[in-house]
Amino acid sequence: DEDLAILAGGDEDALAPAEARMLPVLAVVGRPNVGKSTLVNRILGRREAVVEDTPGVTRDRVFYEAEWAGRDFLLVDTGGWEDRVQGIAYRVAEQAEIAVELADAVMFVVDATVGVTATDEQLLKVLRRSKRPIVLVANKVDDARAELEAAALWNLGLGEPHVVSALHGRGSGDLLDAVMEVLPEEGRGMAPDAGPRRVALVGRPNVGKSSLLNKLAGENRVVVDDTAGTTRDPVDERIDLGGREWTFVDTAGIRRRILQTQGADFYASLRTRSALERAEVAVVLLEASETISTQDLKIIDMVLESGRALVLAFNKWDLIDEERRRQLEWEIEKDLAHVAWAPRVNLSAKTGRHTDKLVPALETALESWDARIPTARLNAFLGTLVAAHPHPLRGGKQPRILFATQARTRPPRFVVFATGFLEHGYRRFIERRLREDFAFTGSPIEIGVRIRE
Ligand code: GDP
Ligand code: GDP
Repeated sequence: DEDLAILAGGDEDALAPAEARMLPVLAVVGRPNVGKSTLVNRILGRREAVVEDTPGVTRDRVFYEAEWAGRDFLLVDTGGWEDRVQGIAYRVAEQAEIAVELADAVMFVVDATVGVTATDEQLLKVLRRSKRPIVLVANKVDDARAELEAAALWNLGLGEPHVVSALHGRGSGDLLDAVMEVLPEEGRGMAPDAGPRRVALVGRPNVGKSSLLNKLAGENRVVVDDTAGTTRDPVDERIDLGGREWTFVDTAGIRRRILQTQGADFYASLRTRSALERAEVAVVLLEASETISTQDLKIIDMVLESGRALVLAFNKWDLIDEERRRQLEWEIEKDLAHVAWAPRVNLSAKTGRHTDKLVPALETALESWDARIPTARLNAFLGTLVAAHPHPLRGGKQPRILFATQARTRPPRFVVFATGFLEHGYRRFIERRLREDFAFTGSPIEIGVRIRE
């Protein structure tokens, strides 16, 4: 009953640069009012997650950086996801499904003073299906009487209930010790602010990659960052551009003259792939003076597969005349329609024309790549869209769209919950309208659909 078709961009495991620190993600899941946010505050050691006394107050999903016993991880508070879809049954199952989509392990919080409710059981069913490690938390155990009640939670079959009082701090250390045992070392969350943004400069041989790199480096401060390069091939360079530092990855591969031997193409494409893997944004360099080639398109496809942000740079602008310019416009319309969302820069590595336009383009693309649309805004958008353009009726059936959330960034990935299969064309339509409303200039976006009977 799951259909996670990806419309644009890459596969799930290729989303993050290999060099970025990938932190494990721990989701805190439970029905409203069991004390999730209080527990999150307790773990963070500061009052940051909003605590509300009213169940179901809309708060958006929030990631926090947390640390325990010298290990960093990301904490996701699912509190406040509750009130978006009709019916408590949908809400809790949904919350769990999204949490599972995001997390490497789940902390399942139950109010020990209330005991296990039908909603708790429903939540648990979803969590179990996911096969993520689950740590059971019996919260609100403020006193001995509550402790007795907590013992009943053994019945859930999740092993020992970890007894805590989030409000008073009791038991949270032992709980975190238990969590650390099931949390993997590396996870699916990218550490925020992991140094300068990483750029891959890619393109077929002779488009001017090394010339552009020299131009950028020549006019700016360069630090050859060979901490990684002393023993292996790729060497990165840090270049100050537009008032901030950027890491250009695998510049050794650009600077070194590639041997024109058999198989050079293969190694060039391998090199491109590995550069993309280590980067956040790709500048695909094309030659304005020459027809867009299948090799250019192949390189763009590699970027799309990698899920990285994309900037298109047309080099050797100094060589082209008015006629070629018109011809190029036509080629772009014909061959690059599928990446019409990528910013374009027309430059000359030789003369330096417009090389200063590269930085704003990179910044725009990365901003889109990082963007997170608040759930409320996303659903307001989707509500209006679906009301005006419902899914076409097929065989007397019409799938309804229930709810959507942005499950990830880098690149943005959306999950739409629907009552039935959504046609390819309709998903495309949603993607197009998402771009019209929220732009995402320079970033691929992905849309997955989850079917809920
Ligand atoms: P959430 O909806 O699951 O995020 O729950 P909250 O963290 O907003 O907590 C709901 C209510 O339970 C608040 O009034 C909290 O003060 C209270 N609460 C949370 N943890 C404890 C606890 O350990 N003991 C007691 N007595 N109350 C708690
Ligand atoms: P790479 O193989 O992609 O690294 O390409 P190079 O930087 O080695 O450039 C290939 C050739 O194109 C060299 O002869 C460069 O001088 C020339 N070239 C690079 N950029 C430009 C440009 O903007 N204008 C002109 N006219 N020639 C350029």
